[in-house]
Amino acid sequence: MSTLYRKYRPKLWSEVVGQNHIKLTLQREIETGRLAHAFLFSGSRGIGKTTLARLVAKSVNCIKRTPDTSEPCGECDSCREITEGHSIDVLEIDAASHTGVDNVRESIIDSARFLPTKNKFKVFIIDEVHMLSTGAFNALLKTLEEPPAYVIFILATTELQKLPETIISRCQRFDFKKVNIEDIVKRLRTIADEEKIKIDKKVLEQIAYRSEGGLRDAEGLLGQIFSMGVKEITEKEASLVLPRSDFSAVAKILEFITQKNLKDALIFLNNLVEEGVDLIKLTEDIIELSRLILLTKLSNELGKLSFAVDEKLLKEIMKFAKIFSVPQLMKIIETFLEQKRHLRASHVPQLPLEMALVTLIPETLSPIAIVEATFTPSQQQVQSEPAPIHVTSKPVLSELETKKEEKKIEKPIEVTASEPTGAPLSFDKIKEKWDHFLKKVQEYNHSLPLILRMSQPVGVRGRAVQICVKYAFHQDKLSELKMRSLAEKAMTEVLGETAFIEVVLGDDKAPVIVQIATEPVAPSTDTLVNDLAAAFGGQVVG
Ligand SMILES: [Zn+2]
Repeated sequence: MSTLYRKYRPKLWSEVVGQNHIKLTLQREIETGRLAHAFLFSGSRGIGKTTLARLVAKSVNCIKRTPDTSEPCGECDSCREITEGHSIDVLEIDAASHTGVDNVRESIIDSARFLPTKNKFKVFIIDEVHMLSTGAFNALLKTLEEPPAYVIFILATTELQKLPETIISRCQRFDFKKVNIEDIVKRLRTIADEEKIKIDKKVLEQIAYRSEGGLRDAEGLLGQIFSMGVKEITEKEASLVLPRSDFSAVAKILEFITQKNLKDALIFLNNLVEEGVDLIKLTEDIIELSRLILLTKLSNELGKLSFAVDEKLLKEIMKFAKIFSVPQLMKIIETFLEQKRHLRASHVPQLPLEMALVTLIPETLSPIAIVEATFTPSQQQVQSEPAPIHVTSKPVLSELETKKEEKKIEKPIEVTASEPTGAPLSFDKIKEKWDHFLKKVQEYNHSLPLILRMSQPVGVRGRAVQICVKYAFHQDKLSELKMRSLAEKAMTEVLGETAFIEVVLGDDKAPVIVQIATEPVAPSTDTLVNDLAAAFGGQVVG
């Protein structure tokens, strides 16, 4: 979902989040009028390369910009045309698309020979420039060697190493950094306020962690949460879109390991599973946090390597760095890496993580490990004492198993026929009753309607209603016996005849539609393309 990203794309330099060093340098060049003619923006996707490229194009061409300042007015014809993506002199080309590669000669090289039509500068923004063919690079190189005074090239790439050295050396180069957590959270808060949606800070932090420093991804996730249509979003609502895991849970697990508390560690893990934690993400987070602790042990500076480290997390990292030894951390990372491979295939989802804990906790009990971890005299004496008896995992596991058994017995046995038989349902009737169905479901369950509102009926197979969902996570959730039974119950009541539910995952891997603005595009076509792109989950570039 790119709508929020498009809607809130910064229109002024002061609105840009992160990339401070780049922002300041570019602004100074614009203010002094000493502008390079070729820029190279490199860095991962969704962190502001195109946004800054457009700002450069806007500032240099703004008719009303006061000399010695860099902010564009945002109102003159030139500013508006660039914002709307149909300026005749600002050409945006996506080299990753076939069209981009084919058109490079005519749309760039030939066009660069002519003066700008309406503006002071002709600006070429070439995205994913590393995708150009050798022929296209050679043609581009010639132009870059002696660029006309009225031309500015802004090349952007996610894979700098694939660019010919000859191209790199002719550009002023900027390496874009991932945006840090605090900046992303601040930005998301601004958007939520603008949209008049109340949202927990914790949720915003989770989005920021998940998006790994990519602002566009963060705004995309926020958009998915907003599309549930809820005005107040807590962790509970967000968990439907955002598979849960956060560093506080991870820190807790590491703490159990330091305390050699296998029993509570296993109970804690099982509680997380009940709450619907994403086990793969949790495992990755355990590995990542252990890695950061290990790096901090080796050098204080290294621990800050991750974009995700804020003050609070840094404190946790320092705390653990004092407790764990290097071999212990290596063992933790190895164990979780090994068990991560089994996660998808395990029929008891949390079993691999339980195995990891059982492997690790006796290990930390060994007297040698304790001595390595801390060097206080009282603990060094441990070495001379007989080795403590290892806690065996058996009683704990069987205790947990008994708990589960009891739970199972309490639950009434639910019977669901898996094969839809009987006269087929009417799809028209289902579509007609869909809103009624959503209301009915609301009576039974709080979270189910939120998922269903983001889904739609797509067909009928016998007595089964096929419901299409957008996210694999929703498919899993709806396929859970409890959720499916509720949905089937509601559907049966609404239709007045027995109905089953089949959940299918929608394909949103649509091609990105590329628009090269060689000619002014009428707004109506623009809207049509936008609508089309939105319907196929793509986005319009240009
Ligand atoms: Zn302007």
